[in-house]
Amino acid sequence: MSLLRRDENALSKLQKLRFFPLAITGGSGCYLIDEEGRRLLDFSASWGAASLGNGHPALRRAINEVMGSPAGASILSAVNQPAIELAEALIPLVSGAKDARVWIGHAGSDANEAVLRAVMAATGKKRIISFVGAYHGCTTGSMAISGHTVQQDAEKAEGLLLLPYPDPYRPVDGDHSGQNIIERLKHHFATDCPPQEVAALFFEPILSDGGLIVPPEGFMKRLEALCKEHGIYMVADEVKVGSGRTGEFSCHIHDNIEPDFVVFGKGLGGGLPLSAVVGPATVMNHASAFAMQTLHGNPVSASAGLAVLQTLHREKLLENAVDVGGYLLERLQDLKQKHFLIGDVRGRGLALGVELVRDRSTKEPADIEAAKLVFRSFELGLVLYYVGLSGNVLELTPPLTLSRAQADEGVDILDQAISDVLAGVVSDEQVAAYKGWGG
Ligand SMILES: *Cc1c(COP(=O)(O)O)cnc(C)c1O
Repeated sequence: MSLLRRDENALSKLQKLRFFPLAITGGSGCYLIDEEGRRLLDFSASWGAASLGNGHPALRRAINEVMGSPAGASILSAVNQPAIELAEALIPLVSGAKDARVWIGHAGSDANEAVLRAVMAATGKKRIISFVGAYHGCTTGSMAISGHTVQQDAEKAEGLLLLPYPDPYRPVDGDHSGQNIIERLKHHFATDCPPQEVAALFFEPILSDGGLIVPPEGFMKRLEALCKEHGIYMVADEVKVGSGRTGEFSCHIHDNIEPDFVVFGKGLGGGLPLSAVVGPATVMNHASAFAMQTLHGNPVSASAGLAVLQTLHREKLLENAVDVGGYLLERLQDLKQKHFLIGDVRGRGLALGVELVRDRSTKEPADIEAAKLVFRSFELGLVLYYVGLSGNVLELTPPLTLSRAQADEGVDILDQAISDVLAGVVSDEQVAAYKGWGG
């Protein structure tokens, strides 16, 4: 029986987010091997998690080594060297961190939830500000402060204030600078959301699952000034775009800000479960036995994180993200000249988005086209998914090891796939079984 059929019979639907019938049996670098032995170029890296590509030797070595004599499996009741080294390595990478401590977790979800609970407990304040379209995780706490439509039925935190995210392609009230959102926040402060009740503002430096939206220049800086003025902690959710993906270790560095907390995940573990929070000791040492899971800080995941940090440095992968990301962006812009279906191309480094529209003047989201395009791309040998509140933005988060030649290979497939989709090669029935974010 095929893996796809066995998956249907064995694995729960609760964690499925499927775009096409992909069953993977292996991988190497920027390629995946599927059940039929096909080699697929990987423009997703499992949503950015496989930051070094698939099966990087440095990651393999690190894991093998630690398993030879593992220092236990937890940091709850005993320290271990890899976890300490990971924390020591992360602190200097976060410039705003003064007297910082590190919390180590498994995922973006538990990390954001840990920060949420800790800031509320430490400040005694209950209210949180975040953004429409934000995805901070899939646990009760992280969902409670998220604004993504896929979680609209999840219970939200009491007094949560959701602000529109400034989208230069679809500006709120025609204001490209996002200043009107700052004004709106000030108005909330003056009326229904007194700032002294707000513990923290959570933000993604690029709104990722909400549509790969890069905020306009200066917006985050103005937001930071407002938070500082009112003593509101700023929490940068760098889970998808941090850990070097945009060419800086943290994406918020592009915005010239120093958030109080920085949350890492996905790419930090290179494919192993690992997340980390760097934040001020006043909050991070507020209580013990407060936000913990038994396997947090286990030496295997911690070593994987260390191997990722070392490899980013040794192989100059931040520089590669700038170089190949810039090249890929150019090639996608050329593709936009050719295909009217592409309304906008954007991103930083190797975090790129391609927004599809039916009409460039009305900007009507081309959601079915996006579903068919990722489906057809898969048939032609390229793996990528789509994001966005209308499901019409292709998300490109390839391994940071991507080469220019591989960028070319992927863009050529996309080019062909767009032509094929517009020519009606993919039927509605073929994609009907794959609802993606639409569940
Ligand atoms: C994926 C993601 C999360 C959640 O991370 P998990 O590892 O899925 O728990 C949180 N924030 C952002 C920005 C993400 O992209």
